[in-house]
Amino acid sequence: MSAQILDGKVISSEIKQEIKSNVGTRLAQGLRRPGLAVVLVGENPASQVYVRSKRRSCEEVGFYSELHELAGDASQGELLNLIDSLNAKEAIDGILVQLPLPEQIDEEAVIERILPTKDVDGFHPYNVGRLSLRMPILRPCTPKGVMTMLARTGVDLVGKDAVIIGQSNIVGRPMALELLAARCTITVCHSKTKDLEGKCRNADIVVAGVGRANFVQGDWIKPGAIVIDVGINRLESGKLCGDVDFEACKAKAAWITPVPGGVGPMTIATLLENTLQAAELHSNV
Ligand code: NAP
Repeated sequence: MSAQILDGKVISSEIKQEIKSNVGTRLAQGLRRPGLAVVLVGENPASQVYVRSKRRSCEEVGFYSELHELAGDASQGELLNLIDSLNAKEAIDGILVQLPLPEQIDEEAVIERILPTKDVDGFHPYNVGRLSLRMPILRPCTPKGVMTMLARTGVDLVGKDAVIIGQSNIVGRPMALELLAARCTITVCHSKTKDLEGKCRNADIVVAGVGRANFVQGDWIKPGAIVIDVGINRLESGKLCGDVDFEACKAKAAWITPVPGGVGPMTIATLLENTLQAAELHSNV
């Protein structure tokens, strides 16, 4: 068997087209452009790349966007003041604070300061809580993007056994909540999990968010499974790769996501979806 590729570049560009046309409709109705404020603290090169790519995507779909750059030694108070001003700003529907933050800043305090209706990353406890109660509003981008990809397979998720490797607040946990809401039976694995391989071998769906290159082996995959690779790892050669041994798993799976060009572009497309959704919440349309 050779798996079909779930192409995040193709799916995300379709989503962006839909969003762009939606922005056109809003403008024709006399509504303003959705607005995203991106906040970058310090000079982390990976964060700078992500921020540039998010802003470029905003331009592509016709959103208004602002970039706020604070020095790496900025205080927590400075960042919270900036968030307060963005919370109050009418042209801004979404606030994205690029993580990780420098160590003098408490990430949780920053996330909690963002108005839940402007929390387009979906990280605020209010939004995570609503997702866990099956009443989601703004959903965490990466897991929501994965659900969009899973929908494109046409496979009925109800009753499927899903193994999620990783339990972080931004990937594993919300991924588990999404798959549970889709009526999968979920197993969440982490560094202390026993017999991870055996759990994967029984899974209809494996989602890897570990942060270790080529961690998931081909012989862990049940024939016909769906393999979603959230990992982004940079090899010494400079090449990007995921958490999944792509060629070996592709030979066993029915569907698989590549890295790059899989979940990554979906995360950005979902951020745009969330910003449009927030704009609709704010203008009540
Ligand atoms: P993280 O906070 O470091 O979490 C990693 C998780 O993997 C933890 O729960 C950890 O378990 C688990 N883990 C580590 N070693 C393991 C092992 N040997 N066996 C089983 N589980 C193990 O990372 P993250 O922020 O969730 O990100 C995960 C990966 O996804 C990274 O490569 C990141 O770059 C990527 N990512 C991609 C996107 C995207 O848009 N594509 C978005 C976000 C993140 P413990 O909890 O026990 O430590």
